[in-house]
Amino acid sequence: MNRIRVLNESVANQIAAGEVIERPASVVKELVENALDAGASRIGVEIDGGGAERVRVIDDGCGMSPEDAGLAFERHATSKIREAADLAAVRTFGFRGEALASIASVSDVTLTTGDGSSGGGWRVTIRAGRRVAAGPAPHPRGTTVEVGHLFLNAPARRKFLRSASTEVAQIVDRLTRAASAHPAIAFSLRSGGRELLNWPPAPAAADRLLQIMGADLGRSMLRVERREGPVRVSGLASVATVHRPTARDQHLYVNARPVRDRGVLHAVRQAYAGLLPTGRHPAVHLFLEIPPAEVDVNVHPAKSEVRFLRPGAVHDLVRHALNEALVGSPVAGRMEPAGRMVHEPGPAPAWVARPSRAGERPPAGTPPGSTPDVEAREPEAGGLEAAGLLHRVPFDALAQYRESYILASAPDGLVIVDQHAAHERILYDRLLRDSLASRVERQRLLFPVTLEVPATHVRAFEIVSDTLAGLGFAISLFGPTTLKVEEVPVLAIGSDVARLVRELLDEVLEWDRMDGWEALRHRIAASAACHAAVRANHALAPEEMNRIVLDLMRCDRPTTCPHGRPSLLRMPLDRLEREFGRR
Ligand code: ADP
Ligand code: MG
Repeated sequence: MNRIRVLNESVANQIAAGEVIERPASVVKELVENALDAGASRIGVEIDGGGAERVRVIDDGCGMSPEDAGLAFERHATSKIREAADLAAVRTFGFRGEALASIASVSDVTLTTGDGSSGGGWRVTIRAGRRVAAGPAPHPRGTTVEVGHLFLNAPARRKFLRSASTEVAQIVDRLTRAASAHPAIAFSLRSGGRELLNWPPAPAAADRLLQIMGADLGRSMLRVERREGPVRVSGLASVATVHRPTARDQHLYVNARPVRDRGVLHAVRQAYAGLLPTGRHPAVHLFLEIPPAEVDVNVHPAKSEVRFLRPGAVHDLVRHALNEALVGSPVAGRMEPAGRMVHEPGPAPAWVARPSRAGERPPAGTPPGSTPDVEAREPEAGGLEAAGLLHRVPFDALAQYRESYILASAPDGLVIVDQHAAHERILYDRLLRDSLASRVERQRLLFPVTLEVPATHVRAFEIVSDTLAGLGFAISLFGPTTLKVEEVPVLAIGSDVARLVRELLDEVLEWDRMDGWEALRHRIAASAACHAAVRANHALAPEEMNRIVLDLMRCDRPTTCPHGRPSLLRMPLDRLEREFGRR
């Protein structure tokens, strides 16, 4: 007795649907991929009931002729390959001609499309795999596919659907992946009429990722970029100080297609080995560009896995690229969120004296408690002295307000000085000036300080040890994760040295290599100055206040602290008089 028989097409389609269409998110995936294949520049997705009731995908791609619209639902109907030889060079997402046939076999589908030709559009309606209507319908260039009642004839599948919110989450996940791989294409998602996602076209993958991540997460990502022969990997990877409880935030795109690959995941784990606390995972978004001949995308029906011709080479490329991002520059390519506000310090007020570069050096890091010698130092203030102002109307600290602000009289009015910001500016300028002249005053610590640091900080230290030496720190590697501090700049005397050094190394991790070494020196100097500067809520003697005000006025940019925060506010006398109606 013969046992084997050929299945009829509708059964075959349903079986195929079982493989390809697991849930509403798979419908979204297939339809979005078709829209991408059609060259769309905007893709809109609308869902109801988590997609089980209705999925609608609208694109502005090439559309289809009425003939193609009818053929599109035939099994193995595809415009993307013609013969076996084409398989090796496929660049589209679909090519098996299976998705629409599969979807249509388990749902109600209405496809409306227009190819921009004068004939207008065309609509095809299919119910559970059977064509019920086809005819002209208006549609601009592009295609709208609406899938209703998913699994209407597959109750077993329907039972497996999770709650609507779970399905929505899956769909968001799908769209996120597609959108990150196609930054130039606009994506939107509405669920039950509510807008969930809306990503306008972005100039580059990184910008799209920022749209998706939001500013906070974006700030903690490093740029990844490496090429080995014809294979290139680029993208973003989280700094070692930011990690997640699961590996869910690890995304790989191979030639813009989101895939999972054990080898690449392993390379990611290796690159971060020893950098993260156990059980924590980095976030990575890696874009692999690889010639089609070096990758087989045909190993999984839903194409979520690939097979590389040289898996070892891909593994090593990814690992090296990540190592480079993490080691060579622990903070390479830190991204600023778009549209961040930058405090632009205004021009210094006219009465602010320029520091005299030539003269003798001021004592390094004069702590607020030291004896003031205002008189002795006044000749430095060239501009004011020349104007005959300084000896007549010196800056005079009048009072301290809330132990945080100094109220002082200036030649042309009143100033309010933020004591911490001001002192920070003073120490910072002095430290940078002295380090340029290689004359930072240092102090040997009576007892060297050793500190345990994470591996990230050891790497950071290796990058900046010279810079730190120039700024007056003698620090050496004392063990694999131990640093020994033997000398510090005088201004750091009295600080918690271990904490200071940790903070300096944090600065290195925050530094954007694109900004260059000078920027790093500035960052470190700013951090050291901030550490050593007098705090807010700290009572100051009149001489101390005077000293701060005078030293501040001698700085190049007295109006801001090194981080850009204002250090003084002014109330010019003429304004004061106007306010009081005297003028
Ligand atoms: P595949 O994508 O594997 O070719 P599908 O069943 O997904 O198979 O689609 C069949 C064919 O229908 C495609 O090859 C394409 O020619 C056409 N098609 C499907 N969706 C669209 C669309 N949104 N825009 C233009 N053509 C489409
Ligand atoms: Mg397809």
